[in-house]
Amino acid sequence: MTTQNPSKSSYEPGTYAAQTRKWIEANLTDALRTDRASIEASLEEKVGFEAEQHKAGLVGITWPVEYGGHGLTLHEHLEANREIGLSPMPNAVNSIGKELAGPIIMTVGREDQKLDLLPKILNMENIWCQGFSEPGAGSDLAALRTRAEKTADGWKVNGQKIWTSGASKSQYCLLLARLGVAEDRHKGLMLFAVPMDTPGIDVREIVSIDGARSFCEVFFNDVIVSEDNMLGAPDEGWAAASRVLSIERASNRMYRSWRFESEIDHLVAACRSDNRAYAVLRGYTREIAEARIAVENLKGHVETLVGDMINGQQIGPRGSLPKLYWSEAHQRFAQVAYEIVSRFPLDGGQALADAHARFRNIYLSGRAETIYAGTTEIQLDIISKRILNLRKAA
Ligand SMILES: Cc1cc2nc3c(=O)[nH]c(=O)nc-3n(C[C@H](O)[C@H](O)[C@H](O)COP(=O)(O)OP(=O)(O)OC[C@H]3O[C@@H](n4cnc5c(N)ncnc54)[C@H](O)[C@@H]3O)c2cc1C
Repeated sequence: MTTQNPSKSSYEPGTYAAQTRKWIEANLTDALRTDRASIEASLEEKVGFEAEQHKAGLVGITWPVEYGGHGLTLHEHLEANREIGLSPMPNAVNSIGKELAGPIIMTVGREDQKLDLLPKILNMENIWCQGFSEPGAGSDLAALRTRAEKTADGWKVNGQKIWTSGASKSQYCLLLARLGVAEDRHKGLMLFAVPMDTPGIDVREIVSIDGARSFCEVFFNDVIVSEDNMLGAPDEGWAAASRVLSIERASNRMYRSWRFESEIDHLVAACRSDNRAYAVLRGYTREIAEARIAVENLKGHVETLVGDMINGQQIGPRGSLPKLYWSEAHQRFAQVAYEIVSRFPLDGGQALADAHARFRNIYLSGRAETIYAGTTEIQLDIISKRILNLRKAA
């Protein structure tokens, strides 16, 4: 997240939270509510809702006004995100645009690129996907082989990306490609903003365990990308991606700690609606208490990191701490919650049916939480080497 002035807030504490809460209460329809998981909103409804969120000041909070943002501070960002987390709002369709592409464009993009691309991320004109991972390059991203060769028309791109979330509904791809040979590793990597309707791009959806069609394979066959669509200088790709990713791990999706809290509350409330379900819950008091403690730790940790950012400190590898802690604790809770709802009586009524559908989705999608944005092992590696300064024994 990029912010003009991270420390000076013009709002009284609590005002932005109240405003956010009021907007959500007025605009979150039943079809959009994830705690009514038996109903499902369409993609168009979710996109429209996200565009309205921007107009209402819930997204792009810290982005500069000239790029479509609201020019506010991390104080307002944190207040809004607490409320977003506590509500059963759907996850953002354009999270890659807002959390990854936008901050990277703000960091390395030219002024004309910022003015053109950034407002269209916030108003949902352009949905973005992230073309980083490849079949032979996941955790070891520097092994990527997709190549960009200089031609008279710009750059000719050839290669294959995989696990590209949302590629089939995206207008742009944030592409990481190599200008030289694979042995160059971190050197010679280049970021591009590639329009997805460019000839030679072939997108194939992959159905995941929860039945979703979000994942895609994306093939680039002699795709010509214009010089204008380079993001930053040749060779800057790795440094830009790494710098932004460490900030993003700390501050993006900070709503997740409060969402975790509201999921626990929803599970308990659903169980209370039926004596038989409540009896099931009572067999899991220890696990639920542990989840509640994890939430309190997580919220405190996120608030500490945000406070440090407001005071101008670098977050660096500390961004790995909330990612690791949240994904592991939430995955444990998702397993317990699914065990509980699986034992609900079949004639339990709507509250139990909604909880069953929601916690089934959370369990299935939760399997990926310890993989994306860097696996648990990779976060542990970062923490051991870069926070604890532990080196491998010789
Ligand atoms: C839901 C989801 C959405 C995703 N969306 C996108 C997207 O939009 N765009 C995109 O580019 N990518 C995306 N990814 C891909 C994601 O970034 C990769 O899956 C992740 O980086 C792991 O890479 P991999 O799958 O190749 O596994 P590998 O890197 O092959 O890892 C396999 C196992 O080996 C372990 N391992 C690997 N290296 C080490 C090491 N050095 N030390 C110890 N253990 C190690 C890993 O922790 C893991 O357990 C997504 C993944 C998921 C699950």
